[in-house]
Amino acid sequence: MRTMPNIQRQLQNVDPEKTIFMMTFLSELLETPEPLSEDLLSTYKLLIYTVVTNLALRKSQPPQVRPVWTYNRYTDRTQQIIRKPALDGQLLLKVLSHCRDLVLPECASRLVANVAAQTDSMDPQDFDSTILPSLKGIIIRLHEEKDELDFYYKMLFQTRLSNYVDRFVGSEPAQINWSRNPVRCGCAHCRDLNIFLRSPVDHAYRVRASKARRHHLHSQLDAYTDCTHITDRGYAEIMVVTKQGSDFAEKLAAWNKKARSATAALRSLEDWEDTTSSSSQLRELLGVRYTELMTLSTYD
Ligand SMILES: [Zn+2]
Repeated sequence: MRTMPNIQRQLQNVDPEKTIFMMTFLSELLETPEPLSEDLLSTYKLLIYTVVTNLALRKSQPPQVRPVWTYNRYTDRTQQIIRKPALDGQLLLKVLSHCRDLVLPECASRLVANVAAQTDSMDPQDFDSTILPSLKGIIIRLHEEKDELDFYYKMLFQTRLSNYVDRFVGSEPAQINWSRNPVRCGCAHCRDLNIFLRSPVDHAYRVRASKARRHHLHSQLDAYTDCTHITDRGYAEIMVVTKQGSDFAEKLAAWNKKARSATAALRSLEDWEDTTSSSSQLRELLGVRYTELMTLSTYD
């Protein structure tokens, strides 16, 4: 058993890929048809303790570069980014089940506490594959009376699901009032421009303008506003002025998509429950926060 301290040392260098490797290894080890001997079982317990103490989930990734339309777009390398799979929540559940079934309460509570700590900084995109399936598996275990519904499980469900709603869905983008401060010039061209700038609903302005007029508007816009401006030379020389924040509709659509997917994911946690009953495992786990979390309203 001289190799164990080495393995333990190796596993102290926390890294998400090592966590996936070790969790796969641990979950398969007890699936063998022959039960493990006493000696191997004690080694297994030592190993599982080390793994749950040092687990790491993938951190938030920097935003990926969007593929851009270029003349050589077919060679554009940004389109070839392949995301590695996240830790499978079923593996997490198997390891937790092993801790519970082998009566290793300290291992089980460490695993629950470390998963809770790691989800604060984990990549929110991995919630659906790592966290939600493991929570669903816990509900099934509670349903089958394999586990007791205790303080640790309540803490795990309440903190992880509020983290999921806050970090995966986030707050709904607020409707933008398009009104902007005017430029400080009283000429006729700027008066027209100011009507557009003060408008609460218009976010783009097209005006046919000579080079001198464009130059004047350009310097006024740059001095007093955050608007972008380009010249459309397609038909006539048209200056196009756009207020910042015009991607609101896009942001709202993306948020709605996330909110729909999160609502479906949260409801799927109750698949196992009798929906006609007013009490359920999930209601009990979430306590007074049930309604708030299930309706995605944890933020102000
Ligand atoms: Zn002017």
